[in-house]
Parts: sequence; C-alpha cells; structure tokens
Amino acid sequence: MLTADHLAIRESVRAFVKAEVEPIAHKLDNEGAEIPKELVQKMAELGYFGLIFSPDYGGSGLDALSMTVVTEELSRAWLSVGSVMTRMLITGTLIEANGTEEQKRTWLPRLCSGEVLAAAAFTEPEAGSDAAAVRTRAEKNGDKYLVTGEKAWCTFANRAHVLCTLVRTDPSQPKHKGLSILLVPKPADGFAPPRLSGDPIPTIGYKGMNSYNVAFDGYEVPADNLLGLQEGKGFYQLMATYEYARIQTAARAVGVAQAALDAAIAYAKEREQFGKPIAQFQAIRHKLAKAQTEIEAARQLTYYACRMKDSGKRCDLEAGMAKAFAAEMAEHVTSECLQVFGGYGYSREYPAQRYWRDARVFRIFEGTSEIQYEVIARRILDDRGE
Ligand SMILES: Cc1cc2nc3c(=O)[nH]c(=O)nc-3n(C[C@H](O)[C@H](O)[C@H](O)COP(=O)(O)OP(=O)(O)OC[C@H]3O[C@@H](n4cnc5c(N)ncnc54)[C@H](O)[C@@H]3O)c2cc1C
Repeated sequence: MLTADHLAIRESVRAFVKAEVEPIAHKLDNEGAEIPKELVQKMAELGYFGLIFSPDYGGSGLDALSMTVVTEELSRAWLSVGSVMTRMLITGTLIEANGTEEQKRTWLPRLCSGEVLAAAAFTEPEAGSDAAAVRTRAEKNGDKYLVTGEKAWCTFANRAHVLCTLVRTDPSQPKHKGLSILLVPKPADGFAPPRLSGDPIPTIGYKGMNSYNVAFDGYEVPADNLLGLQEGKGFYQLMATYEYARIQTAARAVGVAQAALDAAIAYAKEREQFGKPIAQFQAIRHKLAKAQTEIEAARQLTYYACRMKDSGKRCDLEAGMAKAFAAEMAEHVTSECLQVFGGYGYSREYPAQRYWRDARVFRIFEGTSEIQYEVIARRILDDRGE
C-alpha cells in the first residue's frame, strides 16, 4: 500500500509529466532526438536525482518506494525520462556506500542537484554479463590514473560530467579481484578526443538518450577519484548496488507497460468495427483485463522488493524477481496493446510502437533475464541456509 506521502509524490510527478513530457515525447522519439537539457534541469530541480540519498549529502532521504513511484510515472510518459535518474542513482549509491567522507561531500550534493550528471561505464565489448572480464586498464602514475580501453553501451555518456567506470587496476589479480571503480570526469558536451572519444550505437528504441561505445587512450584521471581510495574492491562495490538498480528498472518496465495499456484502453473505446467499439469484443476486453492484471502483479512485486530494501534486509532475490518478471511482462503487455491498435499499432503516428520498442530493452539491460534467473536460482537452490 502506498501512504498519503507516496500518493502526493505520485500526483506531483503526474502533473510534471503532463505539462513537460507528454506534449513532446512522441515527437522527439519519432525524430530520434535527445531529451532537452532544460527538461533534465527541471527534473534535477524537482529533486528526482537525489531522492534516496541522505539529506546530509544533499538528498531527500526518501525510501525506495518513493523512488519507485517517481520512476514509474516518469517512465510512463517516456522511458528515457524515467531513465536519466538511473545514472545518478547508480553512481550516488556507489559513492554513498563506498566513498570516503571527502568523496561523499565532493560528489553527492552535486549529483543530487544535477550540477553533475553521471553515466555508468561498466559494460565492454567483451564483458557484458560477465562483468568480471573487464579489461579497461587504469594504471597508477603519480597522483593520476591513466585509463586505456573500450567501454560499450555507455548510455548518456555524451551529456554526463562523470563516467562511473569499472576498470582493471591490477592485471595480476584473477578476474573480479583486480577491479576498481573510478569516477572519470569529462566535458559535459561530448568527449575529449583523442584521449577520450565516443560513438553512438544506433538502437531500435530507448530514444531520448544515446548509448555510446567509449574509447579511452591514456586518459588522465585524478587518483583521488578512485572510489573509497581502495583498489580491488570495484566488483563487490558494484554488485552491492544492483538491488536499487534492479528495483528501479522494474519500476521503469511497469511505467512503460501502464502507458501502453492506457493508450490501448482509450483506443479500444473509440475505434469502431462491425458497428460497435472494439472494446465491446470479448477478445479485446480480456486482452486489456489480462494486461492490467499482469501490470499490477509486476507493480506489487516491485513494491515488495522496495519494502524489503526499506526494512534494511538483503533483497537481491526480490529485486531480481521484480526485474525479471516486470521485464517479461512489459514485453508481452506492450505487444498485446499494440495488437489492439491493429494496423495503426504498426504506424509511427501512434505511440503503441514506441512502448513496444522501448519495452524490449528491459530483458537486456541491468542484468539480462537469464542472469536474473541465475541469481534467483542460486538463492532458492543453493543459499537456503539449510
Ligand atoms: C539500450 C542499452 C543501454 C545500456 N546502457 C548501459 C549503460 O548505461 N552502462 C553499461 O555499463 N551497460 C549498459 N548496457 C549494457 C547491458 O548491461 C548489457 O547489454 C547486458 O549486461 C548484457 O551484456 P551483453 O550485451 O554483452 O550480452 P552477453 O553477456 O554477451 O549475453 C548474450 C546472451 O547470453 C546470455 N548469457 C550470458 N551469460 C549467461 C549465463 N551465465 N547464463 C545464461 N545465459 C547467459 C545473456 O543473457 C544473453 O541472452 C546497455 C544495453 C542496452 C541494450
């Protein structure tokens, strides 16, 4: 159950997206355009980037459920709008949990206020699900690290001021043991060639933000930007942030699916065939009813993971289940909702195709479905403590 506070937050986000996002999302998506900078700035001013962080560091100190409610409503308007905050969430969570006091004071207030925008550079061309296979090398040279290597799929890299980057600081250590997280500053507009360059990857959906292949060639980073000032901890630091990230991704999937259903319901009431609205045909009515049921199941599973997180309990199982279930639900529901539109569902004139294209990514990023089920299987089969 949402409290009165959660409901008030939901209403305020709904008012924001109605005024600022809904009027532009469809057009910008069709043009393949990026989210306007002013919109990102407004989200920052509304505190969306600092929701869960401590007020001591500029955050609002809210619970995971509040973050989920905000995410769902933003994503319902446009997936990329609900996804900008993901980058500050991941980077801020890593810093709040693992940073030195000075790093927390340096980075968190600016991440919360939007003065510093972040992107996550973990994946590499040869290291996706197997994050411990990361090769990008950060070599200590006096008070600097020199970073060399390639990252893939770094979303929002062009607009970020800092790349939260998983690097190999000790190549002599096996796989996950030699990794660290480095906060890599960069120009806010574009890259810094030839030492740091980026190429956008053309995608079928998730417009509004571009994902980049990023190449480092001896790019200098202050040694003070090593998270926690400790080498060799990066892999473990990253794994510990996955709970929040997966909960937030489940909420994004619920938001996109709900948007698809809202549009399908409106269309089904208005579109007439055989002399009556198609909403009167049982096949369509049941499709819509089933979609609502599946969305609500995913939403409640996400809320459940939030409650576990908010009570301070380990929730990788619950977050993994919510993410995996919501991702598959969103793919199925958006496809069924597109079907309600018939031929018009396949047209760029209607947003049904946007929800469907956007929903396809949920099974892939923030840990693929196959990896989520492996996490879940490990917990239920191997870690029962019996
Ligand atoms: C639009 C988009 C945005 C992204 N944004 C970011 C970002 O901002 N930052 C970032 O760091 N990354 C980002 N990613 C990368 C994303 O996290 C990876 O794509 C994902 O982790 C999968 O890695 P991969 O693509 O290399 O696939 P692979 O790991 O090569 O997997 C290929 C297939 O094999 C399966 N598989 C792999 N290992 C196993 C296993 N052990 N058991 C069973 N099946 C397995 C996978 O599930 C998948 O089906 C983004 C990806 C996309 C598509």
